[in-house]
Amino acid sequence: MTRKVRTRIAPSPTGFLHLGTARTALFSWAFARHFGGDFILRIEDTDVARSTQEAVDQIIAAMQWLELGYDEGPYYQMQRLDRYRAVIAQMLADGTAYHCYCQSDELDAMREAQRARGEKPRYDGRWRPEPGKTLPEVPQGVAPVVRFRNPLDGDVSWDDLVKGRITISNRELDDLIIARGDGTPTYNFCVVVDDWDMQISHVLRGDDHVNNTPRQINILRALGAELPLYGHVPMILGPDGDKLSKRHGAVSVMQYEEAGYLPEAMVNYLSRLGWSHGDDELFARDQLVAWFDGTHLAKSPAQWDAAKLNWVNAQYIKAMDDDALAALVSAQMQRLGVTSVDDGRLAGICALFKDRCDTTVALAQWASGFYAPVSPEPAERERHVTDAVRPALALLADKLADCVWDKPSIAATIKEVLAATGIKMPQLAMATRVLLLGTSQTPSLDAVIALFIRETAIERLRTP
Ligand code: GLU
Repeated sequence: MTRKVRTRIAPSPTGFLHLGTARTALFSWAFARHFGGDFILRIEDTDVARSTQEAVDQIIAAMQWLELGYDEGPYYQMQRLDRYRAVIAQMLADGTAYHCYCQSDELDAMREAQRARGEKPRYDGRWRPEPGKTLPEVPQGVAPVVRFRNPLDGDVSWDDLVKGRITISNRELDDLIIARGDGTPTYNFCVVVDDWDMQISHVLRGDDHVNNTPRQINILRALGAELPLYGHVPMILGPDGDKLSKRHGAVSVMQYEEAGYLPEAMVNYLSRLGWSHGDDELFARDQLVAWFDGTHLAKSPAQWDAAKLNWVNAQYIKAMDDDALAALVSAQMQRLGVTSVDDGRLAGICALFKDRCDTTVALAQWASGFYAPVSPEPAERERHVTDAVRPALALLADKLADCVWDKPSIAATIKEVLAATGIKMPQLAMATRVLLLGTSQTPSLDAVIALFIRETAIERLRTP
């Protein structure tokens, strides 16, 4: 590769960062990092009616959360209008673009006539200057659009990094409007000028943009620009095979943060949607960067698999340092309305429960039981907290009042209670768990009790 690798992600700030855009951002980022290149954030905000600052903020927050650091930007297209206008003026001057005074009723009639003749509707080039051609008379009071002078013959071809060679005939493409009557540049034109000015070497984007690519290539050629290489990644599908959308659940990256997913797990999971490295499923970000060279991108669309994401997240939770996990769990507890005082117990609680949780929210729900009152299911209570076990619970409460507060001493205390009352361990354990944490399914009893504040444990055991 002779050209410096420069990739970009170019979201439109009309909403949150969609999972599909996040995946494209991840691929573009990893590709740039792999080759020691630059990754650029560009905000495509020319749809003024639908673009918001809030969406920009959310996009940036999601990029930060996923730790997809960009080397340049954010660039805003709305701040580059003068540049687009200058390029349009230059193209008008050198004849690669021209004014067209057709009005919408005229265009409608043109298309109507084409359809009636069984032709594909397209602009017929009536204002396209040609040697020896007489153009229509310029109408009064009409602000012209600017059209790109697309080549009439030949093909546009590119070797797509994902899809292989793609060839489109220029006959399929009519003369694209690059500036509206009010002078504002259009979407495809801004993308072209940006990719040119920002010296983008590789464009990785969703395959919903394949149709734009031949038009963009033609304009880039007319500008004498070096072409980037393109890779069009298939859309992510939902479990039913339709394009992944809100209908399938959360599609905003930051909803996953709220729902208790770790950014590293998201990065790992997203990277496997449409890309693979052998059978590897779990790998760190550095490993992804080391492997991600633009090969092994899948031609067929990947399907969102919530169960697999949960599994990946669970592996990252299990492997995470308990103190770091405690900080995340504490934030999740606040969202649940439970304020955990920093009394040093949370890391231990995380260590004990993380094996059974696939999100930090699930972990926070467990942890909340140690800090806020629990309300056991009445049926669970009735089933386990029986008259037969009550004397043992009372004795356990008494003995816990003055035993040393650590796991071995608590284990010994439990044994004493069993010996003194003749109750079996499972009976005492189930009833104690229900009273302490509201459920009979918990890790080992001595470990659970040891993580309680002594008074809280005793109080719950004494709850009638
Ligand atoms: N703004 C476009 C989008 O959000 C991306 C354009 C591109 O990557 O060329 O789909």
